[in-house]
Amino acid sequence: MRPLAVLGGTFDPIHIAHLAVAWEASELLDADVRLMPASVPPHRSPPIADATTRVALLRAALRGQDRVGLDTRELARGGPSYTVDTLAELRGEIGERPLVLLLGADAFAGLPSWHHWHELFELAHLGVLSRPGHAGDWTAELAREVASRRVADPRLLHTAPAGMVAALEVTPLEISATRIRDLLQAGRDPRWLLPPGIRDDAGLLDAYRM
Ligand code: ATP
Repeated sequence: MRPLAVLGGTFDPIHIAHLAVAWEASELLDADVRLMPASVPPHRSPPIADATTRVALLRAALRGQDRVGLDTRELARGGPSYTVDTLAELRGEIGERPLVLLLGADAFAGLPSWHHWHELFELAHLGVLSRPGHAGDWTAELAREVASRRVADPRLLHTAPAGMVAALEVTPLEISATRIRDLLQAGRDPRWLLPPGIRDDAGLLDAYRM
């Protein structure tokens, strides 16, 4: 069965690397991918833009294509976005269909600080997206968890609902939302680092210029 893959994050704001890695993950896994904005991320400072603005930016960025979708359930739920709760909810909806939690290598390295993180591996597969400057700096506990779950071929994730870890080698793009926010704050125009759909709705970026 074709997996459902979700890429969570603050998307504060969405940038072209988010789209590029989500697109490439969908190809490497032969999966449907959804971007899933978090409302109040438990492990970091609150987003600069409110949820409505971040979703408007995501919608503008995703307009006109159907391979990468949007799932706003964490915003609808409000409160801290615990990924383990979200995956349990998704699992209840999709039955035995393979589910993949996509994480950039930076986010994956931080997994041991997440709420009930061992349970994530029971609920979904983990797809670890390569990211420049973030290579395998894992705690011993995370390395142990990965050791028995690692598979070389991402297509093997089609054969079970959850439990495997696959490295997804995507095009290295050294772009981050932090960099985009810094440029906007400095009065610059990061035009070519943002998805084309956003250029037509440039007012949506005002929150980052203040
Ligand atoms: P910030 O700079 O605010 O930390 P970010 O650019 O990392 O933001 P997030 O919304 O936190 O963006 O990212 C969502 C997910 O996408 C995370 O799992 C993150 O690791 C991954 N990701 C973001 N940018 C890249 C990139 N350039 N290459 C690979 N993965 C990425």
